[in-house]
Amino acid sequence: MGGLKETIYNTMPYPFKFVLLNIKGYLNKKQRYNAQFETFLKEFIDLWQADGATIKAYQKDKLVVLLTEVLEHSDWYSSIMKNLGITKAQIEQDPFKVLAKMPILEKTDRKNKVEALLNNKRETAMVGHTSGTSGSPTVDYIDRESINSSFAFWKRFHHTIGVKPYTKQVRFSGRLIVDAKAKKPPFWMYNYFDNQLLMSTYHLTETNLKHYIKKLNAFKPKLLDGYPSALYIISKYINKHHLKLSFIPKAIAVTAETLYDYQRTEIEKAFQCKVYNQYASSEGSPFITECTAGQLHLNLDSGVFEFINIKGEPAKPGEIAKLVVTSFINYRTPLIRYSIEDTVLLKSKDTVCSCGCEMPLIEKLIGREDDILWTEPKGFVGRMDTAYKGLEGINKGQIIQESPTRIIINLETDALFTKEMETLFLNNLKDRLGDNIEYKLNIVDSIPLGANGKFVAVKRKFKLNF
Ligand SMILES: [Zn+2]
Repeated sequence: MGGLKETIYNTMPYPFKFVLLNIKGYLNKKQRYNAQFETFLKEFIDLWQADGATIKAYQKDKLVVLLTEVLEHSDWYSSIMKNLGITKAQIEQDPFKVLAKMPILEKTDRKNKVEALLNNKRETAMVGHTSGTSGSPTVDYIDRESINSSFAFWKRFHHTIGVKPYTKQVRFSGRLIVDAKAKKPPFWMYNYFDNQLLMSTYHLTETNLKHYIKKLNAFKPKLLDGYPSALYIISKYINKHHLKLSFIPKAIAVTAETLYDYQRTEIEKAFQCKVYNQYASSEGSPFITECTAGQLHLNLDSGVFEFINIKGEPAKPGEIAKLVVTSFINYRTPLIRYSIEDTVLLKSKDTVCSCGCEMPLIEKLIGREDDILWTEPKGFVGRMDTAYKGLEGINKGQIIQESPTRIIINLETDALFTKEMETLFLNNLKDRLGDNIEYKLNIVDSIPLGANGKFVAVKRKFKLNF
């Protein structure tokens, strides 16, 4: 739901919301989980176990189909390809070589020229809107096959972490499910058709958290998924009050925001089960998923991944790299060498995972490009979460870099945050970002959420040649 529909939904009384959400749930289920979905799911589960050569061959076949379709049916890509002299025969012979000749697709073009990008061989089955950090939403036109394959990849991920289909689950996403001003429960809504309890991420206050815990204990989900920042707030509350949950979930799957190590530790302690990280995007980027051995696998059957370093060259092992993706799960709005503005840390050497899956590994998902700070003395600094190590009394922290020499820190704290903690924290920051920098620390009542209800933990506000 987006735009006007969302506004109407938001003003409805709870019972109407419940009915509307469930009608939508029913329609979604019919659209997502059909026979084609089942076929894909089986195929993808087989590929997860397949040998490297089989996976590569599958990826190659998919790339041939995608490049051929855009050559013939997308105004944007066909004009580029014709200018480059790319032919159908070349694609069939070596699609990777053809791909390497294609220019990078930038976010602004993907957003502003979406009509030209469309692949007219496919019909739109769904239109999605994603509100970005900068004003107008990005529109996604999605075809039926892509809906089915995306959900099959998502369910394959669940399969690999031992979660069965149609499992009882709780989701914390950025959707405004109940009235934003609601002061008493319910802060959630049950979607009957997905056996899913949607919990609001906008009502997680100290006063409301006891109601969330009570509801979780009554519902007893086998899977919890969604934003790590929301799961972290609940976990911190559970751990702080030494609460014992009356259920142990099979898994917790987080997505959409950067997962920090301190969040993982807190969540695993509270729920007594493993946290699995997953990367995907509403624009239909290929998947990166964590396996039972705790490693992040590039799902090569969902697309092609390229890694570009700070200098704009192909990244070397061990480097921080910007992701450039070509996707097999959005045929209607094709992404070919798309600069998605997310960053990862590459493995320092090629390793085969002990879980048995031969899809390649990366070391870490770092986050948005503007999650990476830059200072003169230290250069690029990713993963600021380690600056919170050993500290007490910080409920939420946000680090905003205004300029190369000025950093603003907003903190939600409690009584445990003493002067000593403040000094320790500032020293941690100086160790990572350097000395000759102005650090301005604000203790605030609450840090507002960013676009789509996501929590912004780190942000660089000035442009860099990344
Ligand atoms: Zn693995």
